[in-house]
Amino acid sequence: MDLLSKLEQNGARKCVACGRCTFACPASQIGGEFSPRGLVERMILEDKIPPEKEIWLCMTCKQCTQICQFGVSFHELVREVRPTLLTSLPPEENHGGIPRVLERLSAVRKIRPSRQRWITSGIDIDQSSDTLFYVGCTPYFDVIFRYLRQDLLEMPRSAIRLLNACGIAPRVLMHERCCGHDSYWLGDVETFQRLAFLNVEALERSGVREILTFCPECMITWKQLYPKMVGKLSFDVRSVTEVVAKAIEEGILRLERNEEVYTFQDPCRLGRHSGVYEPPRQLIRSIGRLVEMPRSREMAACCGNSSFVNCNAMTRQWQLQRGKEALASGADRLLTACPKCLIHLTCGLAEGWVSMERRSIRIDDLYVIAASRLSKKA
Ligand code: SF4
Ligand code: SF4
Ligand code: SF4
Repeated sequence: MDLLSKLEQNGARKCVACGRCTFACPASQIGGEFSPRGLVERMILEDKIPPEKEIWLCMTCKQCTQICQFGVSFHELVREVRPTLLTSLPPEENHGGIPRVLERLSAVRKIRPSRQRWITSGIDIDQSSDTLFYVGCTPYFDVIFRYLRQDLLEMPRSAIRLLNACGIAPRVLMHERCCGHDSYWLGDVETFQRLAFLNVEALERSGVREILTFCPECMITWKQLYPKMVGKLSFDVRSVTEVVAKAIEEGILRLERNEEVYTFQDPCRLGRHSGVYEPPRQLIRSIGRLVEMPRSREMAACCGNSSFVNCNAMTRQWQLQRGKEALASGADRLLTACPKCLIHLTCGLAEGWVSMERRSIRIDDLYVIAASRLSKKA
């Protein structure tokens, strides 16, 4: 597809240069020259993709698309032009490129990844269940980012404990591959296609009727991106937060409540990309008091990084701003429900704490905190 068609398809030619997207964009707010409005204008006027690295600064957080009143889907436009630049002008990969290498290796048919190390006693798995728990890359993140957090594997374990308490013992895949989320958004079409076909093939004829994920990136990949690539899938996809919130609502599950005050970091892929805002809040309200940050729900600020590329001093500044906003909310804890939000914010905020004027706020994962409140009687 040529650039003109991409601009047309994503509504960019309807842009009136109002600048609302640039005003809302995290990459623009933290300084530098990046501007979604400016990029749209340049692509239209020059009829070419700007030959600078700017296109990689976008975190595909969808804030610009959310706020645009003229239907411009800038985050999709960015994704569509990236394949053209991936080889000639690649992004700066963080962590020695290891997360990306693991994703590409996962796309090799002959390789059969083994990620069950996270499964321990005390969680019920039933390999004959028609509900699959897709764990995603957190077992790999545990190896790469253990220096930041030692509790990363507690996220899938806690999600399963909550599901068990709702009466669900899901199955897991013995040789699960990465979903390919980052390849998709970075424009590595070949790796994404391979992963989409290998993953869907692994589930065909398996009898799985539903996939549950605790990682919002896995959720949008299975729910929204694979159907675009391989056609309609024969199973539903839900976030574990949706299942648990429903069980709480129906009185199937009860969590112990205390006086702790929480605020919530809406992960872009759970919130703006999937529209799941209320279920995590229902979980939080069932364990304590929820206070909102000024930028929440549809207008939530991104965690400051996407796909482990282009992390720099300015994105750190953004994370610090977000930490201060959480602190100012009066909450004792900032909760999120995404392994990457947890990793990036923990990294950006001095190992999970923000302290100011003798106050501090701790960053944690919603599933881990909620599972620690499972009622003994549940
Ligand atoms: S908000 Fe929409 S119309 Fe306004 S400058 Fe951005 S893309 Fe153009
Ligand atoms: S998707 Fe997010 S980071 Fe990218 S241009 Fe839009 S608002 Fe900025
Ligand atoms: S913020 Fe995220 S991408 Fe940046 S160094 Fe920390 S963990 Fe890596």
